[in-house]
Amino acid sequence: MATSCAQAGGVGVGTGLAQPGAQATIQPMSLGEFDLIAKYFVRPAGQGPRRAVVGNGDDCAVLAPAAGMQLAVSTDTLVEGRHFLSTVDPVRLGHKALAVNLSDLAACGAKPLGFTLALTLPRVDEAWLAGFARGLLDLADEHDCELVGGDTTAGPLAIGVTVFGEVPAGGALLRSGARPGDELWVSGHPGEARLALEAFRGTLRPSLPAEAFDATRLAMECPEPRVALGLGLRGLATAAIDVSDGLLGDLGHILRRSGVSADVFAGALPLSPWLAARRRHEQLDCILAGGDDYELIFTAPPERRAAVEALGACLGLPLSRIGRIGRLDERTDARMDERMGEIAPATGGPPQSAPAGPRLRLWEGALAEVDAGADPGEGLGAPLANRWTSFDHFRPDLREAP
Ligand code: ADP
Ligand code: MG
Repeated sequence: MATSCAQAGGVGVGTGLAQPGAQATIQPMSLGEFDLIAKYFVRPAGQGPRRAVVGNGDDCAVLAPAAGMQLAVSTDTLVEGRHFLSTVDPVRLGHKALAVNLSDLAACGAKPLGFTLALTLPRVDEAWLAGFARGLLDLADEHDCELVGGDTTAGPLAIGVTVFGEVPAGGALLRSGARPGDELWVSGHPGEARLALEAFRGTLRPSLPAEAFDATRLAMECPEPRVALGLGLRGLATAAIDVSDGLLGDLGHILRRSGVSADVFAGALPLSPWLAARRRHEQLDCILAGGDDYELIFTAPPERRAAVEALGACLGLPLSRIGRIGRLDERTDARMDERMGEIAPATGGPPQSAPAGPRLRLWEGALAEVDAGADPGEGLGAPLANRWTSFDHFRPDLREAP
C-alpha cells in the first residue's frame, strides 16, 4: 500500500551521510512542549483510528483487547547516526519509526491496536515535525493503530516507539515453535536495504545505477511491515521472527529457542532484480547478513506448503521456501556437543546462548533439486555460515551502522 513515504523526496546518491552544519538553518525553539504535542501528535476528533478506551492526553492510555485476546507489546528505538542518517527525509523516518515496531507485532501474528511515542528532539523544527508526523500517522492509519500517548523531551534526536497489539489467547507466533521436518520460508526480498546502505557508504564496485539506488533506498528508509502476513500465518506457521539484524542471525534465534538445526539453500534465496545484477558474494552478503529488512522468516510443516503459497498469492507477496528444519543432533559436531553440554540449562530446555553457526548449514544448491532427491553435497558449509554473522550494536568487530 502506498503511503506518503514512497512519494517523499530525498537527497541524491552519496549525499546522505551525516554532514556537520547540515541543520544550521533550523530555527530556535518556537513552540512549547504541549503546543508541539497538540499540534503534531493529537488528532482532531474524527481523524485517525480510535482504538483506546482512554487515548492521548491523560496520565495513562487505557487499552482493552477484545474478549479472548492477549496483549502483545514491543519497543524499538531509532537513534540518529546509528539507525538513520541525519539527512533522511522526516516523512520516511516517521514511517520507519513505527514500521520497525509493527514488524515485531507482525512476527508474533498480532493485530496492531495502538502505540506510544517517546520523542527526544534537539530543537523544534516545524517543517521536520510536520513531515515526521505525516509519515508516522499515515502508516498508523493504514494499520488502524492509534497513537495513544508518549513523552517529549529535549536532547539528541532519538525516537522510541512502543506498540500494542492483540493475539488470540495462547496463539502468538513465537521463536520457539519450529520442529524438525518443518520447512523454512522468507517473505519478500531481503538484502535490498543493505545494498542501499553500501551504496551510501560508497563500497559498491560498480556503483548502483540511479534506479536501483532509489528502489533499494526506499526499502531501507521505508520498509513495509508484514502485518497482513503475520495475521495470515496464525495457525499456519510454527515459529516466526522478523529480520532486523540479518537473515542468518535472526534465523539463529529461532534455532536456539526451538532447539533445532536448519539447512538453508543459497540457490533458493529470493533475489530482487537489483540484487540479481550484483556479484554473487555481494548478493549473499546482503541477503544473509544485511539487516534492516523487516521481512518475516517462518517455519511450517510440509503439509501446509500449499496453504502458505496460497497466502502469498492472496497478499501479492512473494514467499520463498529456502530451507528445512532438522533435529539438533543430526547437525551437531562433537565440539558443538561439548559446548552445548556446558551451557544447556539444568531444566533440559533448549540452550539459550549457543553460537548460531554450527546449527545452520548453508548449501549452494536449490531446494527444488533437493526435493527431487539430489544430495546437497559439500556446497557451502558451516564456516561460510559463520562468516555471515548478524549485526550487534555492542560488538566492535562488526561494521557500524552509518
Ligand atoms: P506526564 O507528565 O503525565 O507523563 P506529559 O506531560 O509528558 O505527561 O504528556 C502529556 C500528554 O501528552 C500525555 O497524555 C502523553 O501521553 C502525551 N504525549 C507526550 N508526548 C507525546 C508524543 N510525542 N506523542 C503523543 N503523545 C504525547
Ligand atoms: Mg503523569
